[in-house]
Amino acid sequence: MEQRNTEGLNTLPMLCCPECKGDLIQSGEELICTTESCKKTYQKIGNIYNFLPEKIEKDAGLSKEKWDEFYIDKEGRLSYEEQYRIYLNDNFQNVFDQIRKYKEFGNETIFLEIGCGPMYLARALSDKCKLVVGIDFSLEALKLGERMLEDMGIHNYLLILGDIQKMPIKENQIDILYGGGVIEHIENTPATIKELYRVLKSGGISFNTVPSLNIGSLTYRQVWGNIPNFPVLKQIAEFVHIKLLKSKHMIFGYEFSFLGSHIKRMHKTAGFKEVYVDQFATKLLFEFVPFALLRKFFIYLAETSPLFWPMIKVVGVKS
Ligand SMILES: [Zn+2]
Repeated sequence: MEQRNTEGLNTLPMLCCPECKGDLIQSGEELICTTESCKKTYQKIGNIYNFLPEKIEKDAGLSKEKWDEFYIDKEGRLSYEEQYRIYLNDNFQNVFDQIRKYKEFGNETIFLEIGCGPMYLARALSDKCKLVVGIDFSLEALKLGERMLEDMGIHNYLLILGDIQKMPIKENQIDILYGGGVIEHIENTPATIKELYRVLKSGGISFNTVPSLNIGSLTYRQVWGNIPNFPVLKQIAEFVHIKLLKSKHMIFGYEFSFLGSHIKRMHKTAGFKEVYVDQFATKLLFEFVPFALLRKFFIYLAETSPLFWPMIKVVGVKS
């Protein structure tokens, strides 16, 4: 497919002040909130809009630290291109096909990925949408994404350094929103889902994958400090992983698992009328399981039994 040339696409009208949701005006490289009582200013870093609040809540703060460290170029790490190829081979088609079951991409589609990292998915979707928007709280990840998109001659993107709990996006802007294992890292998940609902257009969809609370999350997921979002289990897991183990195993930061019925209810409360929850089919490696035969057994269980499904997808349609 040919590369869409959208240079000159003005993205300022869809942005707002993340704090007061007021309009922004541009002055040089600076964005200024027009609300009299707010007047906050936001700077650009290259092509990245910096809307990150000075203070980040402890749950997201823990995750941010881990991810910034993860994305800093390190010797011996695979290059962006190599990682992008792996993503294309192993994940892209699967994610793309599952999203399209709920809403088709088209020339006018505004796509938003929350927790976009270095924009692997958005890059792969850039020729299928009008605009790909990525929001992440890791500047290192966004810088990588920006460099690669520019190198590829892709310009129909908008990169936001910010907090998904307070997005600098006006309401009714987004057609398709995707979060691959993101909202479970925010302690106040219900408020986050409300924020996702806010930015969607009528008819827009929010597609998120989250860890499933089941036998799997109570056993193998404990290896990396998962917190079951269920009374008592939550308090026990928080005590063990945060207080006792000092987050040592929480390689992805704060991470919840959810019952399908619970995450569905959170979406309904946020305003979504139609909500679908199902297994999220994904390529399973289970590298942390020590023996090959045992690994095969776990993969079999995870693929076939809801008791062991690692991830569920939750799709909300805004009416
Ligand atoms: Zn403001």
